[in-house]
Amino acid sequence: AINCRDVSKTFNTTKVLDQIDFQLPGGSLGALLGPSGCGKTTLLRLIAGFETIDQGQIWLGDREIASAKTHVPAEQRQIGMVFQEYALFPHLTVGQNVGYGLGRQARQQRIDELLELVGLAGLAKRMPHELSGGQQQRVALARALAPNPQLLLLDEPFSNLDAGLRDQVRSATKQILRHVGATALFVTHDQAEALSLADQVTVMLGGKVMQSASPHELYLRPTSQAVAQFVGEAN
Ligand code: ATP
Repeated sequence: AINCRDVSKTFNTTKVLDQIDFQLPGGSLGALLGPSGCGKTTLLRLIAGFETIDQGQIWLGDREIASAKTHVPAEQRQIGMVFQEYALFPHLTVGQNVGYGLGRQARQQRIDELLELVGLAGLAKRMPHELSGGQQQRVALARALAPNPQLLLLDEPFSNLDAGLRDQVRSATKQILRHVGATALFVTHDQAEALSLADQVTVMLGGKVMQSASPHELYLRPTSQAVAQFVGEAN
Protein backbone atom coordinates (compact mmCIF):
# COMPACT_ATOMS: atom_id res chain seq x y z
CA ALA A 1 0.00 0.00 0.00
CA ILE A 2 1.03 3.58 -0.55
CA ASN A 3 -0.01 6.42 1.71
CA CYS A 4 0.64 10.14 1.13
CA ARG A 5 -0.33 12.49 3.93
CA ASP A 6 -0.43 16.25 3.59
CA VAL A 7 2.30 16.26 0.94
CA SER A 8 3.31 19.63 -0.52
CA LYS A 9 5.97 20.61 -3.01
CA THR A 10 7.04 24.04 -4.23
CA PHE A 11 9.35 24.71 -7.18
CA ASN A 12 10.86 28.19 -6.94
CA THR A 13 7.74 30.06 -5.82
CA THR A 14 5.11 27.84 -7.44
CA LYS A 15 3.23 25.42 -5.22
CA VAL A 16 2.93 22.43 -7.54
CA LEU A 17 1.46 20.04 -4.95
CA ASP A 18 -0.78 21.39 -2.23
CA GLN A 19 -1.47 19.18 0.80
CA ILE A 20 -1.95 15.95 -1.09
CA ASP A 21 -3.71 13.14 0.81
CA PHE A 22 -3.81 9.94 -1.12
CA GLN A 23 -3.91 6.20 -0.35
CA LEU A 24 -3.70 3.21 -2.62
CA PRO A 25 -4.39 -0.24 -1.10
CA GLY A 26 -1.95 -3.08 -1.72
CA GLY A 27 -2.73 -5.20 -4.78
CA SER A 28 -4.76 -2.52 -6.52
CA LEU A 29 -4.34 -0.51 -9.68
CA GLY A 30 -4.52 3.24 -9.23
CA ALA A 31 -4.66 6.07 -11.75
CA LEU A 32 -3.60 9.66 -11.18
CA LEU A 33 -5.79 11.55 -13.61
CA GLY A 34 -5.71 15.24 -14.46
CA PRO A 35 -4.96 17.81 -17.11
CA SER A 36 -1.46 18.81 -18.13
CA GLY A 37 0.39 20.70 -15.41
CA CYS A 38 -1.81 19.57 -12.47
CA GLY A 39 1.15 17.91 -10.74
CA LYS A 40 0.67 14.20 -11.52
CA THR A 41 4.22 13.56 -12.66
CA THR A 42 5.61 15.52 -9.75
CA LEU A 43 3.65 13.35 -7.28
CA LEU A 44 4.93 10.22 -9.02
CA ARG A 45 8.50 11.53 -8.83
CA LEU A 46 8.14 12.27 -5.11
CA ILE A 47 6.87 8.74 -4.47
CA ALA A 48 9.74 7.33 -6.57
CA GLY A 49 12.26 9.40 -4.62
CA PHE A 50 13.59 11.54 -7.49
CA GLU A 51 12.68 14.69 -5.59
CA THR A 52 12.52 15.58 -1.89
CA ILE A 53 9.25 16.68 -0.31
CA ASP A 54 8.74 19.99 1.53
CA GLN A 55 5.98 18.89 3.87
CA GLY A 56 4.00 15.79 4.84
CA GLN A 57 4.86 12.09 4.75
CA ILE A 58 4.89 9.26 2.26
CA TRP A 59 4.59 5.67 3.47
CA LEU A 60 5.18 2.52 1.50
CA GLY A 61 3.57 -0.28 3.50
CA ASP A 62 4.67 0.37 7.07
CA ARG A 63 7.86 2.16 6.06
CA GLU A 64 8.11 5.94 5.99
CA ILE A 65 10.05 6.73 2.81
CA ALA A 66 9.75 10.51 2.69
CA SER A 67 9.03 13.50 4.90
CA ALA A 68 10.59 16.93 5.41
CA LYS A 69 13.29 15.09 7.43
CA THR A 70 13.45 11.65 5.79
CA HIS A 71 14.47 10.80 2.27
CA VAL A 72 14.99 7.12 1.53
CA PRO A 73 17.06 7.09 -1.69
CA ALA A 74 15.16 6.02 -4.81
CA GLU A 75 17.19 2.81 -5.25
CA GLN A 76 16.30 1.68 -1.71
CA ARG A 77 12.55 2.15 -2.05
CA GLN A 78 11.74 -1.12 -3.84
CA ILE A 79 9.74 0.80 -6.41
CA GLY A 80 9.75 -0.10 -10.11
CA MET A 81 9.20 2.50 -12.83
CA VAL A 82 7.97 2.44 -16.41
CA PHE A 83 8.46 5.67 -18.31
CA GLN A 84 6.64 7.08 -21.31
CA GLU A 85 9.64 6.63 -23.58
CA TYR A 86 10.35 3.11 -22.17
CA ALA A 87 13.99 4.08 -21.51
CA LEU A 88 15.46 0.70 -22.45
CA PHE A 89 19.25 0.50 -22.69
CA PRO A 90 19.75 0.61 -26.48
CA HIS A 91 23.09 -1.24 -26.47
CA LEU A 92 21.84 -4.17 -24.36
CA THR A 93 19.75 -7.10 -25.57
CA VAL A 94 16.17 -7.59 -24.41
CA GLY A 95 17.32 -10.25 -21.93
CA GLN A 96 20.10 -8.04 -20.59
CA ASN A 97 17.65 -5.18 -20.20
CA VAL A 98 15.29 -7.33 -18.15
CA GLY A 99 18.10 -8.82 -16.05
CA TYR A 100 19.90 -5.53 -15.48
CA GLY A 101 20.76 -5.12 -11.82
CA LEU A 102 19.64 -8.63 -10.79
CA GLY A 103 22.08 -10.85 -8.92
CA ARG A 104 23.76 -13.46 -11.11
CA GLN A 105 22.17 -16.36 -9.30
CA ALA A 106 18.84 -17.26 -10.90
CA ARG A 107 19.10 -14.27 -13.22
CA GLN A 108 18.59 -16.30 -16.38
CA GLN A 109 15.62 -18.10 -14.91
CA ARG A 110 14.05 -14.82 -13.88
CA ILE A 111 14.60 -13.32 -17.35
CA ASP A 112 12.94 -16.33 -19.00
CA GLU A 113 10.05 -16.24 -16.55
CA LEU A 114 9.43 -12.52 -17.11
CA LEU A 115 9.68 -12.65 -20.89
CA GLU A 116 7.19 -15.49 -20.81
CA LEU A 117 4.92 -13.44 -18.55
CA VAL A 118 4.85 -10.46 -20.93
CA GLY A 119 4.46 -12.68 -24.00
CA LEU A 120 7.96 -12.21 -25.42
CA ALA A 121 9.47 -15.65 -24.83
CA GLY A 122 12.21 -16.31 -27.37
CA LEU A 123 13.09 -12.65 -27.98
CA ALA A 124 15.82 -12.40 -25.30
CA LYS A 125 18.61 -11.97 -27.83
CA ARG A 126 16.99 -9.19 -29.83
CA MET A 127 18.10 -5.59 -29.52
CA PRO A 128 15.49 -3.00 -28.45
CA HIS A 129 15.45 -1.30 -31.86
CA GLU A 130 14.43 -4.61 -33.42
CA LEU A 131 11.14 -4.57 -31.50
CA SER A 132 7.85 -2.77 -32.10
CA GLY A 133 6.74 0.01 -29.74
CA GLY A 134 4.31 -2.35 -28.02
CA GLN A 135 7.01 -4.99 -27.54
CA GLN A 136 9.41 -2.40 -26.14
CA GLN A 137 6.75 -1.35 -23.66
CA ARG A 138 6.43 -4.98 -22.53
CA VAL A 139 10.19 -5.24 -22.06
CA ALA A 140 10.08 -2.09 -19.95
CA LEU A 141 7.31 -3.65 -17.86
CA ALA A 142 9.27 -6.92 -17.47
CA ARG A 143 12.35 -4.98 -16.40
CA ALA A 144 10.41 -2.94 -13.85
CA LEU A 145 8.89 -6.13 -12.38
CA ALA A 146 12.18 -8.06 -12.32
CA PRO A 147 13.31 -7.16 -8.79
CA ASN A 148 9.81 -7.83 -7.38
CA PRO A 149 9.10 -4.22 -6.41
CA GLN A 150 6.61 -3.41 -3.68
CA LEU A 151 5.09 -0.75 -5.94
CA LEU A 152 5.14 -0.08 -9.66
CA LEU A 153 4.87 3.46 -11.02
CA LEU A 154 3.98 4.07 -14.67
CA ASP A 155 4.18 7.53 -16.22
CA GLU A 156 1.87 7.84 -19.25
CA PRO A 157 2.93 4.30 -20.24
CA PHE A 158 0.73 4.06 -23.34
CA SER A 159 0.97 7.53 -24.80
CA ASN A 160 3.78 6.70 -27.23
CA LEU A 161 1.80 3.90 -28.85
CA ASP A 162 -0.38 4.48 -31.86
CA ALA A 163 -4.10 4.29 -31.27
CA GLY A 164 -4.54 0.82 -32.80
CA LEU A 165 -1.96 -0.78 -30.55
CA ARG A 166 -2.80 1.18 -27.43
CA ASP A 167 -5.95 -0.71 -26.40
CA GLN A 168 -4.26 -4.03 -26.85
CA VAL A 169 -1.17 -3.09 -24.83
CA ARG A 170 -3.34 -1.51 -22.13
CA SER A 171 -5.37 -4.63 -21.52
CA ALA A 172 -2.31 -6.88 -21.72
CA THR A 173 -0.59 -4.69 -19.12
CA LYS A 174 -3.60 -4.83 -16.83
CA GLN A 175 -3.72 -8.61 -17.13
CA ILE A 176 -0.02 -8.93 -16.32
CA LEU A 177 -0.27 -6.63 -13.29
CA ARG A 178 -3.26 -8.60 -12.00
CA HIS A 179 -1.49 -11.89 -12.59
CA VAL A 180 1.47 -10.90 -10.41
CA GLY A 181 -0.77 -9.14 -7.87
CA ALA A 182 1.13 -5.88 -8.30
CA THR A 183 0.32 -2.63 -6.56
CA ALA A 184 0.61 -0.15 -9.40
CA LEU A 185 -0.02 3.55 -9.91
CA PHE A 186 -0.11 5.11 -13.33
CA VAL A 187 -0.33 8.69 -14.50
CA THR A 188 -2.62 9.68 -17.34
CA HIS A 189 -4.48 12.69 -18.70
CA ASP A 190 -6.85 10.35 -20.55
CA GLN A 191 -10.18 9.92 -18.73
CA ALA A 192 -11.23 6.82 -20.66
CA GLU A 193 -7.90 5.15 -19.95
CA ALA A 194 -8.11 5.83 -16.22
CA LEU A 195 -11.74 4.70 -15.97
CA SER A 196 -11.15 1.50 -17.91
CA LEU A 197 -7.88 0.40 -16.30
CA ALA A 198 -7.91 1.44 -12.67
CA ASP A 199 -9.59 0.16 -9.52
CA GLN A 200 -9.16 3.60 -8.04
CA VAL A 201 -9.01 6.90 -9.91
CA THR A 202 -7.55 9.96 -8.21
CA VAL A 203 -8.50 13.19 -9.93
CA MET A 204 -6.00 16.03 -9.55
CA LEU A 205 -6.56 19.64 -10.52
CA GLY A 206 -4.21 22.54 -9.85
CA GLY A 207 -1.93 20.65 -7.48
CA LYS A 208 -4.75 19.30 -5.33
CA VAL A 209 -6.49 15.94 -5.04
CA MET A 210 -10.14 16.61 -5.88
CA GLN A 211 -11.49 13.08 -5.45
CA SER A 212 -10.27 9.53 -5.13
CA ALA A 213 -12.80 6.80 -5.90
CA SER A 214 -13.63 3.74 -7.95
CA PRO A 215 -14.44 4.51 -11.61
CA HIS A 216 -18.07 3.67 -10.94
CA GLU A 217 -18.33 5.95 -7.92
CA LEU A 218 -16.52 8.77 -9.68
CA TYR A 219 -18.81 8.58 -12.62
CA LEU A 220 -22.03 8.37 -10.60
CA ARG A 221 -21.11 10.59 -7.69
CA PRO A 222 -18.51 13.23 -8.47
CA THR A 223 -18.08 15.40 -5.39
CA SER A 224 -17.53 18.63 -7.30
CA GLN A 225 -18.50 20.32 -10.50
CA ALA A 226 -14.85 20.42 -11.57
CA VAL A 227 -14.50 16.65 -11.27
CA ALA A 228 -17.82 16.02 -13.03
CA GLN A 229 -16.75 18.25 -15.86
CA PHE A 230 -13.28 16.79 -16.24
CA VAL A 231 -14.41 13.16 -15.99
CA GLY A 232 -17.37 13.88 -18.26
CA GLU A 233 -15.03 14.94 -21.05
CA ALA A 234 -14.33 11.25 -21.56
CA ASN A 235 -17.56 11.02 -23.54
P1 ATP B 1 1.90 16.67 -17.81
O1 ATP B 1 0.74 15.75 -18.04
O2 ATP B 1 1.96 17.79 -18.79
O3 ATP B 1 3.22 15.99 -17.60
P2 ATP B 1 1.62 16.92 -14.96
O4 ATP B 1 0.26 16.96 -14.38
O5 ATP B 1 2.36 15.65 -14.86
O6 ATP B 1 1.58 17.45 -16.43
P3 ATP B 1 3.88 18.08 -13.65
O7 ATP B 1 4.84 17.61 -14.65
O8 ATP B 1 3.87 17.42 -12.33
O9 ATP B 1 2.40 18.08 -14.23
O10 ATP B 1 4.12 19.65 -13.44
C1 ATP B 1 3.33 20.45 -12.58
C2 ATP B 1 3.87 21.87 -12.56
O11 ATP B 1 5.15 21.89 -11.94
C3 ATP B 1 4.06 22.46 -13.94
O12 ATP B 1 3.64 23.81 -13.88
C4 ATP B 1 5.56 22.37 -14.16
O13 ATP B 1 6.00 23.41 -15.00
C5 ATP B 1 6.12 22.50 -12.76
N1 ATP B 1 7.40 21.78 -12.58
C6 ATP B 1 7.56 20.44 -12.65
N2 ATP B 1 8.85 20.10 -12.39
C7 ATP B 1 9.50 21.26 -12.14
C8 ATP B 1 10.87 21.59 -11.81
N3 ATP B 1 11.80 20.64 -11.67
N4 ATP B 1 11.18 22.88 -11.65
C9 ATP B 1 10.23 23.85 -11.76
N5 ATP B 1 8.94 23.60 -12.08
C10 ATP B 1 8.58 22.33 -12.27
